[in-house]
Amino acid sequence: MTDRLYYHDSFLYDFEAKVEETAVGARPALILDRTAFYPTSGGQIFDIGTISIENEKLKVTEVADTEDGRVVHYLEAPVKDLPPGTPVRGQIDATRRRDHMQQHSGQHVLSAAFIRLHNLHTVSFHMADDYCSIDLDTPTLTKEQIESAERLANEIILENRPVDIRFVTRDQAGELGLRKLPAADRDELRIIDIREFDLSACGGTHVRQTGQIGCILLRKVERVRQGWRVEFVAGQRAVATARRDFTALTETAALFSAQIYDVPQQARKSLDEIRSLRKQREQAQEELAAAQASALLGETPESNSCRIVIRTLSDRDMNSLKLLAQKLTRLSPRVVALLASTSPQPSLVFAQSAGQPFDMGALMKQTLAALNGRGGGSKDMAQGGVPTPDGLQSALDSVSAILRS
Ligand SMILES: [Zn+2]
Repeated sequence: MTDRLYYHDSFLYDFEAKVEETAVGARPALILDRTAFYPTSGGQIFDIGTISIENEKLKVTEVADTEDGRVVHYLEAPVKDLPPGTPVRGQIDATRRRDHMQQHSGQHVLSAAFIRLHNLHTVSFHMADDYCSIDLDTPTLTKEQIESAERLANEIILENRPVDIRFVTRDQAGELGLRKLPAADRDELRIIDIREFDLSACGGTHVRQTGQIGCILLRKVERVRQGWRVEFVAGQRAVATARRDFTALTETAALFSAQIYDVPQQARKSLDEIRSLRKQREQAQEELAAAQASALLGETPESNSCRIVIRTLSDRDMNSLKLLAQKLTRLSPRVVALLASTSPQPSLVFAQSAGQPFDMGALMKQTLAALNGRGGGSKDMAQGGVPTPDGLQSALDSVSAILRS
């Protein structure tokens, strides 16, 4: 079993130890007799840092528990086989560790606050590189519950209460009334005691006083399988997150030439305007298509008791092309529309009035095969896109020739 120095002192960033085992294979690693490096467990992620052997400094990229209670330090680069007992010096990335202590201790305070105020129990804790989350065992979670728990958690932080590490037997732990008892059957338990606020069994690294957490900011909440997930950030992460939020909000406010607190109102107003303009545009497009259809039909002579309207247009998307085809084929019972648009995307629409004898889908397929395009459709209406506008007009002419033959 590795002697875990962080059990007694979370602020030990620099330590001496001896090599027990070296892994020289595909994933180089070291096992030491003692370590201050924290391995991923209990929701808290691992430390990184360096292990120095004589003049060589090895980068530790990940730290994990083994099944037999030892701690493996995975190294960035291969290492030669070191004899057991080789003295080493470990140095932990203190900035990362302090951040983890702030998040993890913040979690204890927050979980206790949800219990104290609303009797909502934490069922799991997750720490990622940029945010943390707890899952609360509850079918509902209100804004008031979130805000009051955040307020109480920050009060406990401001009161700067001592955070003590105690080791007790399992029986003693039962009498203490812990917030969280581990499932593992261990004789001795490590208790994290936030003075007169929270007692829980935990193997993680924590601050010495709640003031070192700095602050806690609750963020997104979402429904998950076993209750509600609450994302939070503590300490410097909370400051960095608030800074990022403020920057995003300030940039958005500048777009509206507004104060940041007026952004929701301005955004709502803009969305309403967009909706109303979209409606107006749709109506205008309908009217335009109807007028254009009527004009096109007027200038197209009838042949074999059918009018074949052939047009290549520009700046028409597929929808407006289809709209025009629809208007044309509904204006009169014997119309075939062969339409193309050169931009924004080169495209084709073939349509005929209901009851006409041709097969637009088949003609479209034939045309697209020649133009390297994709699409399809039914007997009365078909559409397709092609890679370039070259050859669109002559394709329409050949379809028209087929129809007239
Ligand atoms: Zn903990």
